[in-house]
Amino acid sequence: MSAASPKVGFVSLGCPKALVDSERILTQLRVEGYDIVQSYDDADVVVVNTCGFIDSAVAESLDAIGEAMAENGKVIVTGCLGKREEMIRGAHPGVLSISGPQDYGSVMGAVHAALPPRHDPFVDLVPDTGVKLTPRHYAYLKISEGCNHRCSFCIIPSMRGDLVSRPVDDVLREAERLVRGGVRELLVISQDTSAYGVDVRYAERTWRERAYQTRMKALCEGLSELGVWTRLHYVYPYPHVDDIISLMTERHADGSRKLLPYLDVPLQHASPRILKLMKRPGAIDRTRERIARWREICPDLTIRSTFIVGFPGETEDDFQQLLDFLDEAQLDRVGAFAYSPVEGATANLLPDAVPEAVKQERLARFMDKQAEISAVRLEAKVGTVQSCLVDVVDGDLAIARTMGDAPEIDGVVQIQDGREAGLRPGDFVEVAIMGSDEHDLYGEVVETDA
Ligand code: SF4
Repeated sequence: MSAASPKVGFVSLGCPKALVDSERILTQLRVEGYDIVQSYDDADVVVVNTCGFIDSAVAESLDAIGEAMAENGKVIVTGCLGKREEMIRGAHPGVLSISGPQDYGSVMGAVHAALPPRHDPFVDLVPDTGVKLTPRHYAYLKISEGCNHRCSFCIIPSMRGDLVSRPVDDVLREAERLVRGGVRELLVISQDTSAYGVDVRYAERTWRERAYQTRMKALCEGLSELGVWTRLHYVYPYPHVDDIISLMTERHADGSRKLLPYLDVPLQHASPRILKLMKRPGAIDRTRERIARWREICPDLTIRSTFIVGFPGETEDDFQQLLDFLDEAQLDRVGAFAYSPVEGATANLLPDAVPEAVKQERLARFMDKQAEISAVRLEAKVGTVQSCLVDVVDGDLAIARTMGDAPEIDGVVQIQDGREAGLRPGDFVEVAIMGSDEHDLYGEVVETDA
């Protein structure tokens, strides 16, 4: 693009869902002929896509806005924190505009007002995959916005509203475009993937001349037609998830999986009393049964979950129930947070806040317990051959992931002879696993499609 193009700086903060919003805005900016620049000095205006999920994210977002104001002075704010306009105006009165998440129209309107677009007949050269912030070979696929639950620690429903599902054909067409553009792994995200389509009564749509319901299973069947890895995040343990697990055991003619044997199930706690205070969907006894049933159906299933320790009212007994659950459930991948009160969350009104030192002590015990479990589960993979996707080649090493590792949140496989084998990011490769530790695997190439 020529030097005369208007220039926009972009700061993207927050979770994968916010990343998808950033990609959409960046794509629209490029389509309209704006240049995206890397420094405040080069930018005519700066867009900051914020996160407001927990207090540390709020502070990070306010800092980023402050830095953009100091360095550039023309700043457009969007994203989750945009819902708290007064707070932003209080800290940074000079910002040009503030809008909430997924409000692409407002962001583009503010950009147009600050910096009129240049008409350029060549803008259609923007690849139809859009502009992606993730590496070219994997992409997040957002299937819905909002959430019908009302967990007491969470303000997402008040920021993003109730569940709104994207029509299934719309999602499948986006996935098709991404795969045409070189994506080899699709990461399905939403606030509650298992609720997909409830709001539209599972409306039927047509894709590639076949009818699909707007429903998790039908979506996964459609995505399996694309011949790439599909990984599911934020799935709640409802009975109908059993059907999805069955699909994970099915293979294409070439032996590849129709759906990765991987499930990210945010459980948050295991004490029924704390789950009730959290207003979480689902009972822990039923979750135990579901996990056992899933492993029966698909023995090599990787289960990932996240938990909160130190929730208001959590006693040592509640915490012990959580540790016992970890022992029993033997989850493969686990993330944990010490409870942090988010402004506006109803959980802040609960009595018996856990002192910070106790929270941190419990978090450390929790992570120690899970590290032991993870080390044993990873050790069991030594001596096996794992299908991997290469993310990075760094020196002699290639860094890849097995079907059981999501990017950015799970472990990796270090392939010692990666460069020698000619691996490149985006290659699928069979790796003989020779070693393991608490988080990662180590191996050598068996064969490659490179
Ligand atoms: S399920 Fe609960 S934690 Fe997740 S987005 Fe909905 S309300 Fe928030």
